Amino acid sequence: MINTIVVAGGTHGNERTGVSLVQKWMAHPECYESLCKSANVELVLANPEAMRLNRRYRDFDLNRAFSQTCLDVSAEPSQYEFRRARELNKMYGPKGENTRTDLLLDVHNTGSNMGYCLILSARDPFTMKASAVLTQEFEDAWIYYQPEERSASPYFGTVAKADVCIEIGPQQHGTLNAAIFERSEKLVKRYLELADEWNRGELQKREPIQVEVYTQFCDLGYPKPQGGGAIQAMIHPDLDGRDYSELKKGDKLFRTFDGKDVLFEGEADGRSVYPIFINEPAYYEKDIAMSLTLKTVENW
Ligand SMILES: [Zn+2]
Repeated sequence: MINTIVVAGGTHGNERTGVSLVQKWMAHPECYESLCKSANVELVLANPEAMRLNRRYRDFDLNRAFSQTCLDVSAEPSQYEFRRARELNKMYGPKGENTRTDLLLDVHNTGSNMGYCLILSARDPFTMKASAVLTQEFEDAWIYYQPEERSASPYFGTVAKADVCIEIGPQQHGTLNAAIFERSEKLVKRYLELADEWNRGELQKREPIQVEVYTQFCDLGYPKPQGGGAIQAMIHPDLDGRDYSELKKGDKLFRTFDGKDVLFEGEADGRSVYPIFINEPAYYEKDIAMSLTLKTVENW
């Protein structure tokens, strides 16, 4: 039974779809309150200070501050986001078996061409089934499975028993896009309706749905000189925007500033990989040029 659902926006302050969606729903509860009457639905703007600045974060990435180790530090943290993470954990956790939140839907944006990327952090039966249904209803919805040991995971969603991080793009950080906003609202509403269907025992009875699952494999950084320094190449123009497309050994990966192509060297076992978060602006500081995934077809 899903008793408590939290819909979060503004975990990154400049990802404005979630910010505006939660602000709209706070002002107009009639937008969502009838969608899942079997559960208590709460709204939160996770990082108000970053929202005010229209920046990803003020002192530290809030969505990297929820590991148990971060939450357990005994001294009062000096950085805003570590303090905020503790507050949110108190309000919606505490992270672990006794959390009061059954499901957390965290709405994000990406600059990458990822459509509606439904990120699952665990093989939770509800989030799998509901996300599979949404890939049927939204032709640009995708499933990214990012398995993590929950207590070590730094993401806000992991304070709940189950979570979906909804990454919506391409949208420039700090801006809004009306078409994306409206479609995102529809998608988040569907999760609430499907949670209600789950609580009635009906979603479980649906036939298995065939889905493509993109599972986290590894992150790929930009080419840099040995010993560090500025990046030496850009995402190759043939690859930019082609999230979820197959990348094989020998395919063009980067273009150096003097116009040379850098080719993908492939994985040791010769498997194809499927890059996502290609050229995500927020990941330049994390030295991630893209995340590589492996693709499987499963019945959910
Ligand atoms: Zn984000």
